[in-house]
Amino acid sequence: MNYDVVIIGVGVVGSAVALGLAQQGHKIAIVDKSSVPPNSPRHLSVNKKSSAFLDLLGVWDAVKPSSMPYSRIQAWDREGTGKVEFSAQDIGENNLGFIVKEGDLQKYLISSLEQLGVDIFWSKELINISDKGDLVEIILDDGKKLISSSLLGADGISSKVRELCNFQIKSWSYDQQAIVGQIDSDEKLDDVIRQSFTKYGPLALLPINSSQMTMIWSVDNKSLKDLSELDDDLFLEKLQLEFGGKTRNLKFSSQRFTFPLKHLTAVGFAKGRIAILGDAAHHVHPLAGLGLNSGLGDAESIVKLFSKYPAIKVETIFKQYSNERLPINIGLAAAMELFKRGFGNQNIWLKTVRNLTFKFVDNQQEIKNTFVKLATTL
Ligand SMILES: Cc1cc2nc3c(=O)[nH]c(=O)nc-3n(C[C@H](O)[C@H](O)[C@H](O)COP(=O)(O)OP(=O)(O)OC[C@H]3O[C@@H](n4cnc5c(N)ncnc54)[C@H](O)[C@@H]3O)c2cc1C
Repeated sequence: MNYDVVIIGVGVVGSAVALGLAQQGHKIAIVDKSSVPPNSPRHLSVNKKSSAFLDLLGVWDAVKPSSMPYSRIQAWDREGTGKVEFSAQDIGENNLGFIVKEGDLQKYLISSLEQLGVDIFWSKELINISDKGDLVEIILDDGKKLISSSLLGADGISSKVRELCNFQIKSWSYDQQAIVGQIDSDEKLDDVIRQSFTKYGPLALLPINSSQMTMIWSVDNKSLKDLSELDDDLFLEKLQLEFGGKTRNLKFSSQRFTFPLKHLTAVGFAKGRIAILGDAAHHVHPLAGLGLNSGLGDAESIVKLFSKYPAIKVETIFKQYSNERLPINIGLAAAMELFKRGFGNQNIWLKTVRNLTFKFVDNQQEIKNTFVKLATTL
């Protein structure tokens, strides 16, 4: 079977790029090793640029009603006195973005792909790729061969496309694990994302509706055991103590899950007719909640380049895509590294500097507005 573009990975990034390209009339196949369409219970923050792109794809109206808009982000140093607040009001907006269920995004993207008649191959794992110069052969684990003018790898952090095509990477461990879970509160929650930089690592609470929030606590490996061994009640006691602020009656409405955290950036995102995007191309610390947004930014860039230059070769489109998105993602990775190192260090001088920096930034409206604009338009 011949395709214009074959995409590996029906994650949010892969299905978004597939939908954008299918809507332009390209013949698309998308492949995933999972056996069933995913319905992830995770909640992620989606910035304004991503929601505008999802709107362009025609899925935002379906996702928006169950999403939670947030209008402020507050962050503070639990080990000091520094704090900073970013507000939508300061940039003349109603909100800074939305907290959405990943499963909702997946559901509406996949049903739109099905309506357009895109070939979706579930339970099929990519095994081999052969770049023939003017086309690419993609071999799946059942022996099926797909022939395509181009290939996109949206197959996540352990990307097989990246590995098989020898994309060079820079990667290191953050020496942290993210503990995530969903928490019920007996008090009405407001539309604020809060993040406390604790001695264990950054702890973020994101409201997902008026009575539930999602927790992401990035904990240093050396302290992980101390927290993991606590039962839910003791864990929540510790959480409230480390988070600061008033005590609420909290209880977990999901299990706690743990993910190792690492940084990864490919040195280039394109090689001839093959390109990688989303977590396959770059993966950053979740403390700013920008990984998916940055992946959707990649998808949007590819979709726009295909519509802007329909007559030029796919190699040129992919090269332009890489040139456009690589610097943005390297900048994001550098900023996350600075945060991670700045807040992971217990050195008294560094603690003083970071608290002064927090206070300084909180008083500088121009700097705050620039941060917010960057984080919402990545
Ligand atoms: C704790 C935590 C919290 C986060 N919070 C946020 C947030 O609030 N906001 C935000 O923007 N980002 C956040 N992120 C980052 C975000 O989750 C990721 O950047 C995003 O989900 C990546 O999407 P993707 O589609 O690129 O990859 P994935 O979602 O990993 O999808 C990859 C797909 O490829 C398939 N696949 C893999 N290998 C193969 C193969 N060989 N053959 C066939 N199929 C294959 C997989 O089955 C999967 O379906 C967070 C990350 C973590 C760890």
